[in-house]
Amino acid sequence: MKVTDHFKKAKGKTLLSFEILPPLKGGSMESIFKILDALMEFKPPFVDVTYHREEFIYKKRPSGYYEKTAIRKRPGTVGICAAIMHRYGVDAVPHLICGGFSVEETENALIDLNFLGINNVLALRGDARQFEDKFVPEENGHKYASDLVKQVVAMNQGHYLDLNIQHGEPTDFCVGIAGYPEKHFEAPNLEMDLHYTKMKMDAGAHYIVTQMFFDNRHYFDYVERCRAAGIDAPIVPGLKPITKRYQLTSIPRKFYINFPDDLVKAVMSAKDDDAVRQIGMEWCIAQSRELKAAGVPCLHYYTMSDFELVQTIAKSVL
Ligand code: FAD
Repeated sequence: MKVTDHFKKAKGKTLLSFEILPPLKGGSMESIFKILDALMEFKPPFVDVTYHREEFIYKKRPSGYYEKTAIRKRPGTVGICAAIMHRYGVDAVPHLICGGFSVEETENALIDLNFLGINNVLALRGDARQFEDKFVPEENGHKYASDLVKQVVAMNQGHYLDLNIQHGEPTDFCVGIAGYPEKHFEAPNLEMDLHYTKMKMDAGAHYIVTQMFFDNRHYFDYVERCRAAGIDAPIVPGLKPITKRYQLTSIPRKFYINFPDDLVKAVMSAKDDDAVRQIGMEWCIAQSRELKAAGVPCLHYYTMSDFELVQTIAKSVL
């Protein structure tokens, strides 16, 4: 079932959903099942699975020179999605990125998903590769997520890249996109970022999932600005509890978000990381409850590696 149909079916009730990461290469599917077995009690209508493109590593050769090698540390997104649907009967939402894909490879990936019965995707651009200062699309690949959305929508209309395919089987993907309440870091301002988000919606996207935020005012303002810009699709808030003091600097560096003063002060005065975890949990519960009371369609938790904490949070907001 499509993500947006789950929202319609819920008739205003706030759903809970989760994002998981594929295990590091060499890891097992059991580690994913362990997380999801624990989270199934919340009846998530869908589970997102992130996509991780190749990274460069430098290996020292006996000669003393370093060799640059590309490796994918977390492969398996599509396999995990298929396994989730098979084991739990829950919809899986694979993240699909522009980076590293030519348009033909994207088309082939979408065909695989369609044949597996996966009819949801979160369409993203992806970040710049490690050691590159800006995002570089693949040769004959998409530069922006809006172009990827257009390709998925074209396939939904039966249009494939090969123009000789006259009556191509239309796919039926529900397309989510990313939104940034505190703006995407490359955008000159929130207004321009919203302009491009609207472009993704006009290209045919169906809903938005936001970057994490720690101050609900950012989300509420963002929704208001989206509505004023003519975006009336569901906007799903993405939430993550802070668990370690160092995240006060690592999260803004990686995700370009700000922490509210009260949270910073509380974390700074915590005696150890156990206390930080407790503060992060209580903060996330308070955020979740307020968002739920405001009638958001879904609370979407970035589980990262700490699913037990997310489990405790979800229990408190049910
Ligand atoms: P876009 O919408 O293409 O926007 C990128 C930038 O370009 C923005 O600054 C935008 O304002 C600007 N822009 C857009 N269109 C145009 C245009 N036509 N002309 C000029 N400027 C334009 N990354 C992964 O690699 N794997 C994942 O699984 C993953 N999951 C994510 C899930 C969520 C919910 C979120 C919020 C992010 C996720 N990301 C993931 C990170 C994402 O790939 C990065 O944030 C990336 O830098 C931007 O992706 P986007 O889809 O928002 O890009």
